[in-house]
Amino acid sequence: MAIVTPLEPSSDNRRRLALASPATLEPIGEIEVQTSADVAAAVERARKAQPDWAGLSVSERARYLARALQILLARQDEIIETVISETGKPRTEALQMEVFAVGDALNFYSKNAERILKTQKRKLHGMLRFMKRLRIVYRPLGVVAVISPWNGPFVLAMNPSIQALVAGNAVILKPSEVTPFSGLLVADILKEAGLPEGLFQVLTGDGETGAALCRGGVDKVSFTGSVATGRKVAVSCAEQLIPCTLELGGKDAMIVCEDVNLDYAAAGAVAGAFMNTGQYCCGTERVYVVEAVADEFTQKVVERVSRLRQGFEGEFDVGAIFWPQQLEIIESHMTDAKAKGAQVLAGGRRNPELAGLFYEPTVLTSVDHGMQIMSEETFGPILPIMRVADEEEALRLANDSEYGLGGNIWTRDTSKGVRMAERMASGSVCVNDMTMTYGVQEAPFGGLKHSGVGQVNGETGLRGYSHAEPIIVDRRSGKMAESRYPYSAKTDSGMQKFMNLLWGTSIGRMLG
Ligand code: NAD
Repeated sequence: MAIVTPLEPSSDNRRRLALASPATLEPIGEIEVQTSADVAAAVERARKAQPDWAGLSVSERARYLARALQILLARQDEIIETVISETGKPRTEALQMEVFAVGDALNFYSKNAERILKTQKRKLHGMLRFMKRLRIVYRPLGVVAVISPWNGPFVLAMNPSIQALVAGNAVILKPSEVTPFSGLLVADILKEAGLPEGLFQVLTGDGETGAALCRGGVDKVSFTGSVATGRKVAVSCAEQLIPCTLELGGKDAMIVCEDVNLDYAAAGAVAGAFMNTGQYCCGTERVYVVEAVADEFTQKVVERVSRLRQGFEGEFDVGAIFWPQQLEIIESHMTDAKAKGAQVLAGGRRNPELAGLFYEPTVLTSVDHGMQIMSEETFGPILPIMRVADEEEALRLANDSEYGLGGNIWTRDTSKGVRMAERMASGSVCVNDMTMTYGVQEAPFGGLKHSGVGQVNGETGLRGYSHAEPIIVDRRSGKMAESRYPYSAKTDSGMQKFMNLLWGTSIGRMLG
């Protein structure tokens, strides 16, 4: 049974999709695929609502976020249940990754947006400081499209949306067709927080709706999803000359150094690989362990994995694969790896005891970069471990990837860990933790290479939902304009003497 199944079109000829839980395979609801006409109507409503919203101060806008935070607290069980019904993830993961992370973001931006977006007075350099004043004003862009994936259906819909909103924009969200109900819940919570009509809207649907939204006359697209779709979004935005951020896939590497605390590293590997059933963009997808500790590390990992409980009822640690297409990718990577000589130390198959989409937590060794499991995004509960001679080889192999989203390094020598992190070709790196940069509100988040373009979150991300407009004011009310013409040899030679004095002498350079 597919999770998303086409139904008969609606009476007004919109496509319809039926959804089923990946854990129980029971139906959970239906959605309509909204069309380009729906997109046009939504953009029109957003354009009407946005100017008044932009007219509020940042602190006034931030109050809506503070209100949404209280609603989140009051409705946390409903959020958890909605996320679980769409994804089959463990309750603890729905609580930590979706509710807690969103609460932290709402709290952070409601308290910090005013500081981050306030008009800045910047000192100018050299003689210019006596002639001009510079201010940077963060102006809203207008209407922002947020397109989100299924693996963090609530947090990845809410987080970019609240940043775009508090920066003064209207937002149209297109959640994944696999997890639309979490997106609709975002709208419900923001409505309860009192957001004006039309300012935040959700369009349900699949790629058709997403593509129409990208071309629907919005001012920016904030996209999170796969590399393949990210490319299409980038082309669409390039053709219209509108900005986008692309938060795409990854193949995050973990490096285990010889001087590591092996218990901590084994626990970190298991959490990094199996959290969210491995469907975490910054999940650990490959481990490089230094030969001297490889056996002991691998044994500790396998022991921990054997204790993981998979299921969907009561208390369990590892949930379902969220949709069938991902299960197919996982199985094809596993077939390829086994055919090329990978050894399966744990798991390695669909869970035969569960009817839904469950793949057992899997540990592999004897892997190499000729296998898809080490080179392409698997996005499943698979932990391939590769032995390396030393840390240099680990770094070289970690960087041998077309992805560059996150990564993590484990060592007792944190200074060395930081030095190694600086040499890792990825958007962010954690030392002695699984990659959890997205959960650190101050940290700008984004990928290198095929893992993305631009950054979200933190000061950089929040300002990315606005245009940084420099306003330069002449200190002498424009008097200098009078001296511009006529051009003459005398003014040219005066300028050249001035340059020689300014940059040709040490005192001049100090002042300049
Ligand atoms: P996806 O690319 O299939 O879909 C993402 C969204 O794009 C969905 O809402 C989908 O309906 C929409 N879409 C599909 N075709 C479109 C088109 N032509 N134009 C516009 N929108 C379109 O991705 P997915 O399978 O939902 O998500 C999993 C992927 O997301 C993984 O690769 C994962 O690594 C990545 N991801 C990245 C981050 C990050 O922050 N870097 C976070 C989470 C997930």
